[in-house]
Amino acid sequence: MSTHMQNQTFNLISCMQFADKYHPRSKVITQLVEDNSIHEITYGEMYVRIKKLANALQGMGIKLGDRIGTVGLNTYRHLESWYAIQGQGAISHTINPRLSMQQFEYIINHAEDRIIFIDPIFWPIIEGIHGKLPKVEAYVIYTDDAHMPKTEIPNVHSYESLLEGQSDEFDWPEFDENSGSSLCYTSGTTGNPKGVMYTHKSNRLHAYAATSPECIGMTSRDTLLVVVPLFHANSWSTAYSGPMTGANLIFPGKAMDGESIYNIIENYQANLAAGVPTVWTALLDYCERNNKILHSMKELLVGGSAAPPAMFRTFRDVHGADLLHGWGMTEMSPIGTLNRATAEIEAMPAEEAEKYRLKQGRPLFGVDLKVVDEEGNELPRDGESAGKLLVKGNWVVHTYFGAEAPAVDADGWFDTGDVANIDRYGYMEIVDRSKDLIKSGGEWISSVDMENLAMGHPEVLMAAAIAIPDEKWAERPLLIVVPKEGKNPTKEGIQEELSKGFAKWQLPDDIIFVPEVPIGPTGKISKLTLRKQYADYKAESV
Ligand code: AMP
Repeated sequence: MSTHMQNQTFNLISCMQFADKYHPRSKVITQLVEDNSIHEITYGEMYVRIKKLANALQGMGIKLGDRIGTVGLNTYRHLESWYAIQGQGAISHTINPRLSMQQFEYIINHAEDRIIFIDPIFWPIIEGIHGKLPKVEAYVIYTDDAHMPKTEIPNVHSYESLLEGQSDEFDWPEFDENSGSSLCYTSGTTGNPKGVMYTHKSNRLHAYAATSPECIGMTSRDTLLVVVPLFHANSWSTAYSGPMTGANLIFPGKAMDGESIYNIIENYQANLAAGVPTVWTALLDYCERNNKILHSMKELLVGGSAAPPAMFRTFRDVHGADLLHGWGMTEMSPIGTLNRATAEIEAMPAEEAEKYRLKQGRPLFGVDLKVVDEEGNELPRDGESAGKLLVKGNWVVHTYFGAEAPAVDADGWFDTGDVANIDRYGYMEIVDRSKDLIKSGGEWISSVDMENLAMGHPEVLMAAAIAIPDEKWAERPLLIVVPKEGKNPTKEGIQEELSKGFAKWQLPDDIIFVPEVPIGPTGKISKLTLRKQYADYKAESV
């Protein structure tokens, strides 16, 4: 091997070591789950606690490659445990507490987690299924002794008691950077969830890309509101990018309503934020109803599902903030594309440029995309030809955890399950998730386009388009709408809005008004639940 340059092994703990050395006073601010009070800690203080926890885990017999589950909202303790686990070569397996009981039990057993870290509010889940988790040896509750829940289950420790008396020196091991660091299961709409095992190398490359100005663009001068959970695909890298750059991080705990999000942004002058569209819908709705303006916010990253054009315009025109559309998935660590204007787009007249800015964006250096037809032939990059979106790159899954067969084709391409087009400037636009497309009389109707237009109606808060079975056409679109508080949009008014982008035959057979729609485990509207709910629905034609 060449010795011209140093060949240091890489351990993700170095993100936190760097923060300790060069950004020791940058902060992690947590709105506590227990009582919504605010807790502040610096990276320097956190690093001391991380080393103590690492020693405690060694004392519990944790070895390289062991899996440790974490069931927590975004808090400083959750982040500390994440680094203590990964830094010693064990695997932090972030678990979404909103999974169904069966899925919860399945993934803990599939991962063979030896220890589970958990927030006190989620402890009742464990009380219910403890007997079905044979591999779990101990539980650590993210709290102190004074706030421990009462339990008969053995080997349950408070997080703070584990740190007591531990040394704040820890010798981080060296290992191959292709070793696993963390594990995340996809929320899996059908069948059992599948695990994606990230490595120290894949997370590092992804974090560099995420931090660059073409992507989130984080610096030590920024304060980022991390609404996206640590358990949703590496919190879109923010847990690494924060310490790497010295940006302050704000964890909102469980306060996810529009008012709480607004207050925390204003109180801490957050200028960056990351979250799924439903959170930004709630924030904009609160601001609109209370005549509030965001003063410090510059850029909000939105992804997880398509963000409607009306949301971009409101952030830009009312709040002077840029909504950046990103696309990715658990299998991609997760970021694949981000939407920033290239010089060519910036030079276009505003109306023309906007068409590009609303798409899901361009790939980050390190991932490649292509769109193919049913036979696997690559489709032209003309912004119109839509097909299966395939991806490839250093932070894309190769083989699911514990699976025999690779998840990629012979040339290493992974099929995302999304249907998309790519234009001549490299902007990718998601047409739909393949299973969400509506196929009526053999013709496709995009549920994303329908929802985007419906959300442009000033009285619509949320919209979801789904297919309902139809004898003649196989499937027909049904639109489910949540009106804004105190508003009564009409079916006719919404159809008129939809007519701006759809032919008459594509319009929904019916529009149903509901007070709320089901939200899935990662905060996205659950189309699966809606499809089940309305499987036998007979449309009253509008
Ligand atoms: P998850 O693994 O839970 O993050 O889900 C990944 C899926 O979410 C992708 O395959 C897409 O279908 C969808 N998704 C993520 N970001 C976007 C976006 N910006 N627009 C549309 N769909 C998105």
